[in-house]
Parts: sequence; structure tokens; C-alpha cells
Amino acid sequence: MPQKPLESDYEKAREQMVAQQIARRGISHPGVLEAMRRVPRHRFVPAESLPYAYTDGPLPIGAAQTISQPYIVAEMTELLELKPTDRVLEIGVGSGYQTAILAELSREVIGIERIAGLANHAANLLHELGYQNVDIHVADGTKGYAEKAPYNAILVAAASPSIPEPLMAQLAENGRMIIPIGDDDGQVLELVIRKGESLHIYQLTPVRFVPLIWEYGYLQG
Ligand code: SAH
Repeated sequence: MPQKPLESDYEKAREQMVAQQIARRGISHPGVLEAMRRVPRHRFVPAESLPYAYTDGPLPIGAAQTISQPYIVAEMTELLELKPTDRVLEIGVGSGYQTAILAELSREVIGIERIAGLANHAANLLHELGYQNVDIHVADGTKGYAEKAPYNAILVAAASPSIPEPLMAQLAENGRMIIPIGDDDGQVLELVIRKGESLHIYQLTPVRFVPLIWEYGYLQG
């Protein structure tokens, strides 16, 4: 009978994931690499996906949603250039894995997820893992979360047809937002940086995310 993997086996798998999928593809921010080594990704995937927890791709997490590919999580996090004093808004918490990575590198993460089952599961798991600087809400993330605005960084983990207005408004001075823009036929990761009243927008790499749903995203018919 196959043995149940030990925590040290997962640690080794994580080391390999960072070396082969992340560092080798050009992610060099020491804090990001360290966070990816530390956060136990296998805890964020459903039981049937355990053997694939550290493989180079997204995985299903139920409710027709996915946990993002490790490399994409690393790339998006690196682009935010987080500081330990930053307050971060994350839209599309899903499994909570990206939330944990952001929490490792910032003061506070406000996470918004529209599916209550996913949000509750992620909040419980993050609590169990000892993250005290995360605050998860079930809501429409396209409206942001005005109560705690402005944010030094905003990460959107679902594809939007355009940058939702409320998110632009809730970005702090010099704040950075990373968001996939496009539809099922193609999406590009965009980096938005606020300088005073103007927003500088940079189009980066092609990506594939599930759709951002609701008022300022894709309306569900
Ligand atoms: N970072 C997550 C990715 C989850 S997939 C992870 O790696 O696990 C994207 C998530 O965005 C889904 O859970 C989906 O339910 C959520 N989502 C889609 N539209 C949303 C909206 N308007 N507000 C909040 N969450 C939304």
C-alpha cells in the first residue's frame, strides 16, 4: 500500500516547485520565493488533487473554479512589489492560496470571494494555518471594498472585460493593481500604477483565468 506522504516530502516538492517552475522562469524577488517555499500549497487543494499539489498548472477547487498555477501566483505577487506595511485587496480568494502568499509579504490582506462555500473554507484554513492578518468577505469584488480603502496593492484573480471603476478609485497613491483583462478567447495581465490623478497601464503577459462575475465584470445571464 502506498505510504501517506510526510510533511518533509511536501517540503521537498515545494523546493522543487520553486527551483524549477518559478526561479528558473525568472522570478527573483527573495521574499516571493521564500513565501512560495513556506506556504503549504497541498493544504489548499482538494484531497483528490493532493498528488498534483506541486505540479506546474492550475487545479480544480470545486464550484467550477481553480487554484492558479504556482508560477502565475508568483509572477502576479512579484509585480505588486509588496512592502511589509502594505494593505492589500485581493479579488477572487478561491482556495485562499494566493491570499496566504500575499499575507506573508504585507501588513493586511482583505480578500473578497463571491462564492460563500469557497470563502468560508479559505477563511477557516488560513486561520488554522495561523494567518492573523487576513480578512475574508463574501461579496462582489468588482465593487472593491470601500470600507478599508485605499489599498497599496490590488490583485484580481479572475478575468474582467475592463478595469472595474471602483478598483481604480480604491488604489492608493503609487499603488499597484494587477488584473487579467479579456475573455475566454484571450486575456492579458495588466499592471496599473496610480500616480496622482493618472493611472499608468502596462500590458504584460497572456494568461487564462476564470471570468470575474457581476456588476462591473461579466454579468451572468
Ligand atoms: N487565487 C485563487 C483563484 C481562484 S479562481 C486561487 O488560486 O485559489 C477565481 C475566483 O474568483 C473564483 O473563486 C471565483 O468565484 C471568484 N470570483 C469571480 N468573480 C468574482 C467577483 N465578482 N467577486 C469576488 N470573487 C469573484
